[in-house]
Amino acid sequence: MRSFSIARRRMVDEQVVARGIVDQRVIDAMLKVPRHKFVEQALEGKAYQDAPLPIGEKQTISQPYMVAVMSEALALAGSETVLEIGTGSGYQAAVLALLADRVFSLERIPFLARRARIVLDECGFGKVNIRLADGTQGWQEMAPFDAILVTAGAPEVPQYYLDQLTVGGRLVIPVGDRESQLLLRVTRTGENEYQEEQLLGCRFVPLIGNHGWQERS
Ligand code: SAM
Repeated sequence: MRSFSIARRRMVDEQVVARGIVDQRVIDAMLKVPRHKFVEQALEGKAYQDAPLPIGEKQTISQPYMVAVMSEALALAGSETVLEIGTGSGYQAAVLALLADRVFSLERIPFLARRARIVLDECGFGKVNIRLADGTQGWQEMAPFDAILVTAGAPEVPQYYLDQLTVGGRLVIPVGDRESQLLLRVTRTGENEYQEEQLLGCRFVPLIGNHGWQERS
């Protein structure tokens, strides 16, 4: 719909480009993916706002700027195999599908995994592979990955992710406490060597699982 493409262009101009994102492939991907399809119909009108939005099950679709920062930090050229932890709405996975060759995504909540599958298929992103699982152990059968993106806040960097990166691969992950985190990029520079960079402060829902936070009742 015309009004959504105008809203999407404005979102990219004002929230992504104006704040310093320069990777043209990320900018183009965010201009293409219909973000309003990844939120509940009642929230469609808010889909292009500068904020995360609820997607049910106490989870959120990330703020557009955060999607842009994380996508740019992965430094994708198009030929990569990427793992996302936390499919949620499927929006970030759709952006990754335009940036990389193969995309795998893990989600622990069945309702979200099911709905993301439907929306991704409807929007032409059938190539995204979704699996219902605790993603804190990565996806060993599909490893190694050129990039791993974690879209929930972890108490620490799980060793599984480091082990499942190619040499040269990048892991982008929010690490901190349950309420606030620091977005880190960890690059595997050698078989047993890693380089860590701190990107920015952020607030994600917790990464729940065997090697993450405990679920709260
Ligand atoms: N990338 C999502 C999107 O584009 O909508 C946003 C993700 S939301 C901020 C975080 C997601 O991580 C939630 O859907 C949550 O259920 C999921 N999650 C939390 N812990 C997880 C785990 N151990 N394995 C897989 N998914 C997990």
